[in-house]
Amino acid sequence: MKRGFYILTFWLLFSLFCGLPLLTAQTSTQRQIAITIDDLPAGSAASMTGAEITEMTTKLLTTLRDQKIPAVGFVNERKLYKFGEVDERIKALSLWLDYGFELGNHTFAHTSLNRGGLKEWEEDIIRGETVTRLLLAQHNMTLRYFRHPFLDTGRDLETRRQAEAFLVSRGYRIAPVTMDAWDWMYAGVYDDARHRSDTALQQQLVSSYLSYTGQVFDYYEKYSKDLVGYEPKQILLLHGNWLEADHIGELLDVLRKRGYKFITLQDALSEAAYSMPDEYVGEEGTGWIDHWAITRGRPPLNTPVFPQWVIDRSNALPHRPTQP
Ligand SMILES: [Zn+2]
Repeated sequence: MKRGFYILTFWLLFSLFCGLPLLTAQTSTQRQIAITIDDLPAGSAASMTGAEITEMTTKLLTTLRDQKIPAVGFVNERKLYKFGEVDERIKALSLWLDYGFELGNHTFAHTSLNRGGLKEWEEDIIRGETVTRLLLAQHNMTLRYFRHPFLDTGRDLETRRQAEAFLVSRGYRIAPVTMDAWDWMYAGVYDDARHRSDTALQQQLVSSYLSYTGQVFDYYEKYSKDLVGYEPKQILLLHGNWLEADHIGELLDVLRKRGYKFITLQDALSEAAYSMPDEYVGEEGTGWIDHWAITRGRPPLNTPVFPQWVIDRSNALPHRPTQP
């Protein structure tokens, strides 16, 4: 004990004497992030078999569980209803809970608050609770998180506030997003390359995805720090797809190298930044750092540009994916 104290004292004095960075390097890089995964059971569930959804889900969740990464998945229950496959799809969804993760509501049919009316959106939330609530109850859990489809939070402030009051009345906490590298845009092109066994294109897409993720993080880490005064606990938006199932390990490595520790959504939401004034309204859904910036009259400028070649490839697909 005493010896340890002397060694520590010596090291402190030695460090100060030599002008070595002491603990600052470690504390300044300790970043925190919660992982959220939307559009379950799978982004392109309509074109997948139940068996394929189970295979994809198992692969994705195995990596997350093995690396002890908490995650919340957001469900569109409409995707469970394919003739002859309902049981299998529900089983794939319940894997999330069997593996120790949590599920939230993302509306039944991925309904936008901005495109439909408030009433239609509210009904779609209620309709989207049925199976998820049941599965959660089987695991002694309750349905407590909601994620807006398309991140559409309302075209005017009155609708936005009414929608928020509705969510509170049904026991939901909104799950904001601060980091989003548009994996869904890559995912359609990646699926197509995977079906054609075009491994070169798959690798090219993964490299581009990880590099674009780096650009998004560079930009929004700095911007959030400018707005909040420090880097808040971030929340990352991903989607249930083969790109993530095959490569989420590499994505997690990228984040670890940036100094991130992976936390629960509940922990992230304890962050004071998520109570900052937010009066964002608009046709286009966007992340919460943009919300805070626009509320303060400081809209983000020179944001990272998404690689055009991926958009072109996506547009050329026979079944073009829409923004989830
Ligand atoms: Zn979605």
